[in-house]
Amino acid sequence: MILDDFKLDGKVAVVTGANTGLGQGMCVALAQAGAKVAGVARRSCDETKALIEENNGEFLEVIADLGTTEHIDRIIKEVKDKYGRVDILVNNAGIILREDAVDVSEENWGKVIDINLNVVFFLSQAFAKEFEKQQSGGKIINVASMLSYQGGIRVPSYTASKSAILGLTRALANEWAAKSINVNAIAPGYMATNNTNQLRKDADRSEAILDRIPAGRWGTPEDMKGAVVFLASKASDYVNGFTIAVDGGWLAR
Ligand code: NAP
Repeated sequence: MILDDFKLDGKVAVVTGANTGLGQGMCVALAQAGAKVAGVARRSCDETKALIEENNGEFLEVIADLGTTEHIDRIIKEVKDKYGRVDILVNNAGIILREDAVDVSEENWGKVIDINLNVVFFLSQAFAKEFEKQQSGGKIINVASMLSYQGGIRVPSYTASKSAILGLTRALANEWAAKSINVNAIAPGYMATNNTNQLRKDADRSEAILDRIPAGRWGTPEDMKGAVVFLASKASDYVNGFTIAVDGGWLAR
């Protein structure tokens, strides 16, 4: 039956940036669908763990700074030591730095590109190798943005990284689809999380954004749940290289 295709029983999902915001919402969704979830974060994921365990789900915390690729092998080892395998990777961790383009230092440019793009690529590569070893196929879900499609204002490194995510999602899907590895992305619209604190505190920008969202509200971590479970599940086995917008209609305007 079709609803069974959305179930993730027996699957192991790894979500980066699991301690808060959209990552936390996606961890809870994947656990509710039946997956064992490993959350990667640079700080405690106690809140995420509690939300999952109150529904009898399983959660493993893996502490790692994702500003560098150096922890990738350890992340996979810790997950495999606990759960024996990996099936789903959600590349969610990301940062945004708001600065005029003329003021962006090479250091700040690199910080954003490292976590939002470089670590996403090398984590995906490491997971694809695991999927091949397991001969299991797998699901990779990247987190893109409205700035995968648009230029944005005062966030050039973020726009560059998220535009690259859309292209990388297609490129990896082309190489790996025949190995039953689905690579897709979710492009959230304007969501109420730490990422948009500054925007939401700016009354003029906040009002202008809200006015432009057909759904008439900011998105929430709960809004990510349907798309992430779909892309993590058998229900999306013939969906490759596509970025799904969860944006309250922003791109439709
Ligand atoms: P958030 O609350 O700021 O979450 C970002 C997550 O990434 C946090 O868990 C954060 O950990 C983690 N992270 C950042 N740097 C890290 C590092 N060096 N090592 C490990 N973890 C690190 O914002 P969010 O909105 O949930 O963002 C999640 C994803 O959605 C990001 O890729 C973001 O670009 C994307 N996105 C968000 C929106 C939006 O409107 N909110 C729209 C489009 C796309 P800490 O808590 O420790 O900082």
